[in-house]
Amino acid sequence: MSTERLEPSSQPISTDSPVAISTAVKPPAGKPLKLSLPIDEKIVPKQPEAGWMKLPVVTLISLSLHAMVLGALALVVLKTPKLVEEVFTTVTDQEEPAEEIVEQSMLQPEDINDSTPQSIVSQETTSNLAFETKGPIDLNVSDGIPQLEAADSGGLPGLAGIKVGNETSGRMSAQAKKTMVTKFGGNSASEASVASGMKWLTNHQLPDGSWSFVHSKHADCKGQCSQDGSFTNCPTGATGMALLAFLGGGHTHQKGDYQKNVKRGIDFLIKAGQPTETGLDLRGKVTANEGMYVQGLCTIALCECAAMSKDSRVRKAAEGALDFIVKAQNPKDGGWRYNPRDPGDMSVTGWEVMALKSGTNAKLKFPTTSFKNAEKFLKLAQAEGGAQYVYDPAIDKAPPTPTMTAVGLLCRMYLGWDHKNKKLAEGVQYLDKIKPQPNNMYFNYYATQVMHHWGGEEWTRWNELMRDQLVRTQHQLKDGHLAGSWDLADPHGGGGRLYMTCLSIMTLEVYYRHLPMYSRENIKVEF
Ligand SMILES: [Zn+2]
Repeated sequence: MSTERLEPSSQPISTDSPVAISTAVKPPAGKPLKLSLPIDEKIVPKQPEAGWMKLPVVTLISLSLHAMVLGALALVVLKTPKLVEEVFTTVTDQEEPAEEIVEQSMLQPEDINDSTPQSIVSQETTSNLAFETKGPIDLNVSDGIPQLEAADSGGLPGLAGIKVGNETSGRMSAQAKKTMVTKFGGNSASEASVASGMKWLTNHQLPDGSWSFVHSKHADCKGQCSQDGSFTNCPTGATGMALLAFLGGGHTHQKGDYQKNVKRGIDFLIKAGQPTETGLDLRGKVTANEGMYVQGLCTIALCECAAMSKDSRVRKAAEGALDFIVKAQNPKDGGWRYNPRDPGDMSVTGWEVMALKSGTNAKLKFPTTSFKNAEKFLKLAQAEGGAQYVYDPAIDKAPPTPTMTAVGLLCRMYLGWDHKNKKLAEGVQYLDKIKPQPNNMYFNYYATQVMHHWGGEEWTRWNELMRDQLVRTQHQLKDGHLAGSWDLADPHGGGGRLYMTCLSIMTLEVYYRHLPMYSRENIKVEF
C-alpha cells in the first residue's frame, strides 16, 4: 500500500510498495519515480533499541557514500513519519539519471540491493533438520480438520486423485503443525519466534478489537515501541495484517490459543466493512494509495478464517469482499491497482490474486473469470519470457525487479504453472541467487513462499538463511515492550513495526501456512 498521494496531473509512481512511506511526491514527468530507503546493515545497529545489535557486522562490499548518507538520514527520521516523507522526497529528487537506474536498479523501491552481499546472514543454522520431500508424511491428524475430497483441494496443480487436506490443513492442529515444521525446515527457535511475535500483537490490540499501524498509541505501549507506520487512519488494513499472522498459525476465533483476540479482530473487520453495490468494501477511509492493498489483505484474512472455521457469518463477509475485488479488476489489462478498475500494477495484483485463491480454497462463491484476466496481466508484466516481472507494464521498458518477480512467480504458481515449467525454474534460480535480503521484508515474504512451494535444495538453502535471519533480528524479552517485534527493515515501510512484524511472523509460518504445491502428493493427511 504505497502512500504516494498522486495529484490528478501526476504520472504514475513506480513503487510496488505494500506500505510505502512517502506522500505528496510527484515524479518527474514521463519517468517512474524511484524511491529508496537504503537501510544499511552497518547503520541499523545504531538504533538504541535495535535487536540488530546482534547482527554480525558483515562488510562483503561497501555501499556508496550516497547510500550510506541516505540510509543514516532515513534511520534518524524513521521515528518521525513526516520527516521520512521528506527524506523520500529528497531521495526521489536526487535519483535522476536514467543510467543510474539501470546500473543501480536495486535502489528502486520494489528492489533489493543486488549489489550488496547476497547474504549478510550467518551461514550458521540453528537446526540441522534435513529437508526431504520424498516419501509421504503421515500427519496423522485426527482432531477436527475438515474432511475434504482431493478434487476439492483448491483447484491447485498436481492434486488430482491425491488425498490431501485443503490449503490450510497444515495449520489445523498442533500435531499437523509440528510435523510440517519438522518436515519443511522450521525448528523450535522459529516456533518460539512466532509465538513471541503473536504476544507482541496481542499487547497492541486496541479495545475495539482493531490494530493500528500507529501501534504506539496503545495505552500499554505509550510509545515504548518505536517506528509507527505512516498510515494513521487505516484500522482495517492493520487489523487484516494482524489477523493474517494469527490465522497463518491456525488460530481462529473458534480454535487455538488466541480465540478472543481473533474474534475481536474479525468482529471489528466485519463491522467496518461497508456493503456496496460492488461488494463488501473493506478499505476504510482511503487517504492515499493503500485502498486495494487493504481490500486484498483483509479479504485473505476473511477467506482463511472462513476456510478454517466454517462460520457462515465470516463466509458471507468473505464472499462480499471477493465480489468487490472481482469488480475492481481492470477490464482491459486484467490487473489491479490502488483504486478499483485502475490499470494494474504487479504489486497490488499479487495481493488480489492471493485473495481470490484463498477464496477458492475456502470454497466460497464468486465469479472465477478474474483468474483468466489476471493471467493476461501477468503476460503483460512478464520479462525474460515469464521468468521475471516488472512493476508497471504500462511503463515503456520497465525493468523487472526481484520483488515483483517473486510476486509474479507466486501468482504463476497459483494460476497453474507446474514444476516442469522452464520459466518458473529460471525464476526460482534467479531468486535463489539473490537470497533473503536484510532490508526488504516484502521481497522476503513473497520469495519465501515461492521457494517453499518449489522445494528441493533451493528451498533448503533459502530457508536456513531466512529462518535464522528472522529469529536473530527479533526483539527479545530484555527489550521490554518491543519483545516479539521486528525493527522495520523494508523500503515499503508505511505500515511500520506492525507491518514488519506481521510479515515476519507469516514468513516463519511458511512451513504449515500453505501446503507446498508441488510435493503434496507426498503428504498424506489422515483424518
Ligand atoms: Zn509497544
